[in-house]
Amino acid sequence: MYIYNTLTRKKEEFIPNVEGKVNMYTCGPTVYHYAHIGNLRSYIMEDVLEKYMRYTGLDVKRVMNITDVGHLTSDGDTGDDKMLKGAKREHKTVMEIAKFYTDAFFADCKKLNIKTPDVVEPATGCIDDFIKVIQSLIEKGFAYEAGGNIYFDTSKLEKYYVFNDFKEEDLAVGVREGVEEDENKRNKADFVLWFTKSKFDDQELKWDSPWGIGYPGWHIECSCISMKHLGEYLDIHCGGIDNAFPHHTNEIAQSEAYIGHKWCNYWFHVLHLNTNSGKMSKSSGEFLTVSLLESKGYNPLVYRFFCLQSHYRKSLVFTYENLDNAAVAFNKLIAKIAALQAQPQGEVDKAKFDELKNSFVTAMDNDINTSLGITALYDVLKADTTPATKLALIDDFDKVLSLSLLETAKNSVTKQENEAEELPAEILALAEERKQARKDKNFALADELRDKIVAMGYTVEETRQGTVIKKA
Ligand code: AMP
Ligand code: ZN
Repeated sequence: MYIYNTLTRKKEEFIPNVEGKVNMYTCGPTVYHYAHIGNLRSYIMEDVLEKYMRYTGLDVKRVMNITDVGHLTSDGDTGDDKMLKGAKREHKTVMEIAKFYTDAFFADCKKLNIKTPDVVEPATGCIDDFIKVIQSLIEKGFAYEAGGNIYFDTSKLEKYYVFNDFKEEDLAVGVREGVEEDENKRNKADFVLWFTKSKFDDQELKWDSPWGIGYPGWHIECSCISMKHLGEYLDIHCGGIDNAFPHHTNEIAQSEAYIGHKWCNYWFHVLHLNTNSGKMSKSSGEFLTVSLLESKGYNPLVYRFFCLQSHYRKSLVFTYENLDNAAVAFNKLIAKIAALQAQPQGEVDKAKFDELKNSFVTAMDNDINTSLGITALYDVLKADTTPATKLALIDDFDKVLSLSLLETAKNSVTKQENEAEELPAEILALAEERKQARKDKNFALADELRDKIVAMGYTVEETRQGTVIKKA
């Protein structure tokens, strides 16, 4: 399996540290608000990566943090704590906000068939671990105290900027976004490990520490939570591309300074979901959530399908028109699968199964190319083989794609409409074929198929709810 590694900027063969086992870490959500569908694009694509690894037989342990403290409104060390902003907005405590939006996040994940990681760890549960690592960084000379805060000293590293497709001066924390520089910092790229003094003093959650009462910086939590559960050698770390700098750069700096050797071999970054007007945001434009899509009548799995149609390393533009196109394609796919389910199954053709599976594996092995993976799925539908073979393949691919294909097809409208009548499989198959012909505007074929159904002793009636077929 080959994966594009942001660290080396190359597609590389994925070789875990221990054969057959994968340590995987994912930056979790900041639970101050609902996740927008852009955030969820990252989690969908990471879910596919994890499931594909398992599909190939790898034993994956996946860990994710929940950011419930320390993530400031600027990814540098300025602005307000996002959690505090959420609490003020809703007149609740930070922990109430954290609980509510953590639950909401996992409810969205469930609707999108995103598996919950093996370990989910909130930052507020690991304060002692953060303190231990920060203390060691101070002892090793990688961190210093200034103005009440503890900073990481980036000048102590041979190489700080690891994701350096960017210009260093654009990246330096404190000079981005016109933010004023923190005078305590020895170097402009230094970042806070522990705050006791910040520009806002009403931080709700604070803990005692050797440096005074305060709270951790955002970056230290991912280093510590990862090392706590996955040890000193991480195989793969995931996140959205905006996390590459400064967050992941700082994670590498801290972790490697602490353990004294290379920490993580592969970095998997998902490109952004954008709107027509640019970056998706929770604060401007329409706040696009899974619930909003549902309220407009979309099946959340249509959004998952929409994401899978594109490669994770290309940015993707969300418009309702694009989502509608995905919905049409998804419904067609489901109708075709329902038609297969309605036919006499036959036997699974093992040779054909392996041949068609191979093209799915080839697509996915090539840097998780889900759009070609979907093409492999369409090739199954078109293939010259038994319904049993096709359905077995669909079931197999869906272990990775997680689109609930067989289940959705089983529950699809045509089946429900006709279930009461208990129509024989041949009639159901003809009805599906006719439905497709009508959709394709092939009315001559549709009429021919109707005549066939009638000739077999059934009536065909068009109603507002769809076609109703009954025994004559
Ligand atoms: P946050 O809750 O802000 O910490 O972000 C959660 C995840 O969503 C992180 O991995 C981000 O990199 C990712 N993310 C943020 N915005 C987008 C977007 N527009 N498209 C895809 N992923 C995003
Ligand atoms: Zn992180």
